[in-house]
Amino acid sequence: MPEPNTGEFRLMRRYRKGVQTMRPIRGKIFDIQRFSIHDGPGIRTVVFLKGCPLHCPWCCNPEGISYESELAYYPQRCFDCGECIHICPQKAITRSFKEDGVSIDREKCNDCGACVPFCSSKALTLMGEEISAGQVMKEVKKDTVFYRVSGGGLTLSGGEPMEQINFTEALLSVAKQDGINTAVETCGYTSSSLRYKAYRF
Ligand code: SF4
Ligand code: SF4
Repeated sequence: MPEPNTGEFRLMRRYRKGVQTMRPIRGKIFDIQRFSIHDGPGIRTVVFLKGCPLHCPWCCNPEGISYESELAYYPQRCFDCGECIHICPQKAITRSFKEDGVSIDREKCNDCGACVPFCSSKALTLMGEEISAGQVMKEVKKDTVFYRVSGGGLTLSGGEPMEQINFTEALLSVAKQDGINTAVETCGYTSSSLRYKAYRF
């Protein structure tokens, strides 16, 4: 915890206020993975942020590259009920003639997500959800006891966390204030001033 009345102390108070009050700091994520043991020391919760300035073909999380929400389809989960076909306002979904399940015309689909709640098997999922920093930290704090005994904590990943620097800063600041260890998985393709904003936590 920083000394009272220092710049860092005031920033922490500001973020705590922003995280907890009516004007929450929001960001876009595509997953929260609990009990992760490969993304920093101990047992960790990894928050995956959307958007990366690089488009590496070998990316291990390609669903995090785009800054926008995207419709994902898992054919192995589809049981061919046809619900989504009638729901789609763009008429982008049809029965697949090649295999079981459906085909999605990506030219017509605008990733609106209207079909997602109607897919009970979760074969259709929207990658990219707007969420407040407070909601994320509520999820992260559920495993505080595991962080304590294992030396773990919170890891921000993506995508590239520096691309949503206000959200990243808020999460790291509140985690630090709550005594939760923090780590950032970054491609490093960002300015030194943004790096400084995140690394001071
Ligand atoms: S995301 Fe929207 S446009 Fe795309 S398939 Fe689903 S309902 Fe249709
Ligand atoms: S709603 Fe889901 S399970 Fe049903 S056809 Fe569409 S993708 Fe398959």
